Amino acid sequence: MSRAEMRHAFAGNPIIPGKRDKLATEALPSLLHASQEVERVKVLPLCDGKPLVAASSSSSISSPSCDGPPAARVWRLAWQALEDFGERIPLSVTSSSSGENPPQMYDQLVYLGEKERLAYFAIDVPACPAPNAEGRRPGVDGKQLRSLASMFASPSDDERVAFVDARTLMQAANWSDEEAMSELSIAGHARVMLGWHKEALYCGRCGSKTLSYLSGQRRVCSKCNNKLYPRIDPVVIMLVIDKERDCVILGRQSRFVSRMWSCLAGFMEPGESLEEAVRRETREEVGIELGDIVYHSSQPWPVGPSSMPCNLMVGFFAFATSFDIHVDHKELEDAQWHSREQVQRYLRSSDYENGTLDAASKIRYACFGDERVEAPKGTIEEKTELSSPTVPGPYAIAHHLIATWANEGVAHLISKRCLMSAVDLPI
Ligand SMILES: [Zn+2]
Repeated sequence: MSRAEMRHAFAGNPIIPGKRDKLATEALPSLLHASQEVERVKVLPLCDGKPLVAASSSSSISSPSCDGPPAARVWRLAWQALEDFGERIPLSVTSSSSGENPPQMYDQLVYLGEKERLAYFAIDVPACPAPNAEGRRPGVDGKQLRSLASMFASPSDDERVAFVDARTLMQAANWSDEEAMSELSIAGHARVMLGWHKEALYCGRCGSKTLSYLSGQRRVCSKCNNKLYPRIDPVVIMLVIDKERDCVILGRQSRFVSRMWSCLAGFMEPGESLEEAVRRETREEVGIELGDIVYHSSQPWPVGPSSMPCNLMVGFFAFATSFDIHVDHKELEDAQWHSREQVQRYLRSSDYENGTLDAASKIRYACFGDERVEAPKGTIEEKTELSSPTVPGPYAIAHHLIATWANEGVAHLISKRCLMSAVDLPI
């Protein structure tokens, strides 16, 4: 199986809730108070959007092999038993209760789904239980994170737990390991849901407080009954192709690490179709007009640069009908045509395996501090001295758009995918 055919990171969640899930959404309080049922509940704590994970001191981080990804599994989600929570965790700002009524735990548990009669929840563990005098919660530092993590149980004696950001978990995930990728998708889902709850505390219609509803799958206004749904922000991402000259446009944003080039991308605007967004963003960013647009795939992306982790990347191949690039420098630092040979070279020279090992080192360092492992030396981008440009790793949809074109050619792109015709679309 080529990397281009693997499932996307953060997709393929095995416990995403559906309409048929009844285990927790209808009777959570009774479920949590019935002792014989408690063992059926697993809870994942997150702090500041970072899931609690466990790493083992005994598992070695293997060297990458020539023909595949590293084999070591460095982290796993540190699910907690419900009965171990008790009074120990501080209550979240998403609590629906106030004043005399102390918040109930089930107000704060966010249902993630169920599998094999186990119900899975996430819960926000605030580093600071109360806002400061200005009404803001101060940022969380590493010491606070370590202190909070120490309140939770390790899955086994040789494992330690830590709160680790989802991007590092993504970079450290072994992308050929089904279970690891499933856990990554659950971590991403939990991050999105808890992030949304923090942003949806008040009703946009009447300004009253909102309450968690359906075990956190929705929120509802305490006064006017307005229902709030979890947020999803669609982003179009496109590889712009010149069929005649067999080259593609790759751009650089100023926030990218040095030498990194990627596909063009942008948020959809209300009232436009996906293909209209592809045309508009391409025209705005590089001044190129498009003919046919071909859908490739989509990817939940809870690790983007925006403040909300709810991006859905929708990926396209887009065929150019004009060829002079005019970069909008407010959007992009640079954008250029790159030949197939150049792009194949970027793919070959990008050191993704070492990036995975670096991220794995960071996780082990977070879990064990300076006791048993050395501090990571830095990211792959900081550490390596490659002279060649590089493109995003296999965890990103951009990689798959670029690699599919570079390795399989234009005819393949059109034959295998649904073609969105240029005919009758406004240019
Ligand atoms: Zn309201």
